[in-house]
Amino acid sequence: MISRRNLLRGSAAISAAGPLVPAAFAAQADPKKSDAYDIVILGAGTAGLVAAIEAHDLGLKPVVLEKMDYAAGNSLYASGGIAAWGTPQQKAEGHEESREAFRADMMKVSENRADPALVDTYVSHIGEDLEWLKSHVGVQFGKIGRKPWPLLYRMHNVDGKGLTGGARLIRDLLKALQDRGIPLLFNTKAMELITDEHFRVVGVKTVTDDGWKNFYARDGVLIATGGFSGSREMLCRYMGGPLSRLVLRGSPYVTGENILLTAPLGAKFVHMDQFHCGPIVEETHANPNFVIDAGVGIDVDVRGKRFMDEIYTYTQKSMATATRTPENLAYHLIDSHWPKAASAAKKFIEMKTRVLVADTPEELAKKMGIDPKVFTDLFAEFNRALKEGRLKEMNPPCSLDEPTPLDQGPFYAFPFQGGITATFGGPKINEKAQVMTNEDRPIKGLYAAGNAAGGLFYGNYIGGTQLGGALVFGRIAARQMALSHRMG
Ligand SMILES: Cc1cc2nc3c(=O)[nH]c(=O)nc-3n(C[C@H](O)[C@H](O)[C@H](O)COP(=O)(O)OP(=O)(O)OC[C@H]3O[C@@H](n4cnc5c(N)ncnc54)[C@H](O)[C@@H]3O)c2cc1C
Repeated sequence: MISRRNLLRGSAAISAAGPLVPAAFAAQADPKKSDAYDIVILGAGTAGLVAAIEAHDLGLKPVVLEKMDYAAGNSLYASGGIAAWGTPQQKAEGHEESREAFRADMMKVSENRADPALVDTYVSHIGEDLEWLKSHVGVQFGKIGRKPWPLLYRMHNVDGKGLTGGARLIRDLLKALQDRGIPLLFNTKAMELITDEHFRVVGVKTVTDDGWKNFYARDGVLIATGGFSGSREMLCRYMGGPLSRLVLRGSPYVTGENILLTAPLGAKFVHMDQFHCGPIVEETHANPNFVIDAGVGIDVDVRGKRFMDEIYTYTQKSMATATRTPENLAYHLIDSHWPKAASAAKKFIEMKTRVLVADTPEELAKKMGIDPKVFTDLFAEFNRALKEGRLKEMNPPCSLDEPTPLDQGPFYAFPFQGGITATFGGPKINEKAQVMTNEDRPIKGLYAAGNAAGGLFYGNYIGGTQLGGALVFGRIAARQMALSHRMG
């Protein structure tokens, strides 16, 4: 199997299209113990790379510092959907959408707890920023998708051309950096921000293969180091025990440097217990979304007991599995009424992921290692309640819109666990991507974007707005630093 790490290092599978980490970057590490640039960007994810390109195109000299030996963040794992409204592509494909509707949904999905100013900023910029990705970076998009909530045609999907959309996006961004000669230094980990006597951030102390090295920044430092989903200790600290058992869906290397670097400066942290949850199968990293979101079937724990309403979204199902089952493990049971059942099982098998198939409910129960009577009773109870229109009276209720009976073999059991996609908490930013203090003042010279920044998301997010947020605020941070450059 090709790991993402190998993929990024330019494995045989992608070498025909050129390595993702261009050799030119590797050669740029400078043995000197300090260096100066206009801006210093920490982290080679979407936010950091976008900021570097924008800053360069505005006439600045940026440098990107990445702690790993490849662009190791969550961007690489992303499906590559970016949610936007009113784009030329939406119009061309016949999808009308208003700014107000998009904004209202962003607020609604956050239970009105997202910072309205940041949401407004997203909504104002995303359309233009998406066009910029096409024109300045060369990113190509496939047809717009109608997913996920609230099922409108907003999802602009990066055309992965054989890679995941996120990996393709990173590859395109890296190429744009290389084309412009923007330095990107790997194995360079930001350890501490440097301030001057006016409490202005003027650089960063890093550790490199050659030891300590300071990078000074005339116009600002951008924290684009992602969130802390890769740090079990921080998940436990900010979210509590059961949630620290969520299976990691993304990068193990986003380990909370957004907090560690900015805490000594008194940054204001917001939404620290907030995150996005999604389903995953831990052993193979398979994403079973397409099965558990099928709109038919029931969900049970390892004892064969239902524990949630099947109307739940994939996010809610993942959360319920993590918090209501001691093992953080559930099975989606489905029968052959679902026309895609056989092909879904095939897809699981192709992903080398366990799926149980049986001709009868009893046999399925045996394969799950439980008493066959458990499924005989459960399936009979479900089918009876469905026939009598009493599904919502079950405990827990089943509120599916178009449920089908469970009586047509073969029967399938698809395993899934609750996983964490990304954390939403971090240093609060304002509309200019400046990091704020507890006293609600911007810290001079310090910016944050992407999952490193706090304020834009709470509770959940409209699929595609995380990459979108990294794009919008990465560009804004670069523009702000360019402004500061011009003002001297
Ligand atoms: C399975 C999955 C699917 C997803 N799909 C989507 C999707 O389709 N649409 C969407 O909008 N969002 C999606 N997301 C979320 C999205 O991937 C993230 O929101 C986004 O990639 C964050 O980008 P970023 O630039 O903030 O950080 P990252 O991409 O995480 O990059 C951070 C970088 O900083 C580096 N770094 C960390 N600490 C330091 C340090 N001290 N010094 C130097 N470098 C450092 C890391 O190594 C990393 O390379 C998905 C996430 C997952 C896990």
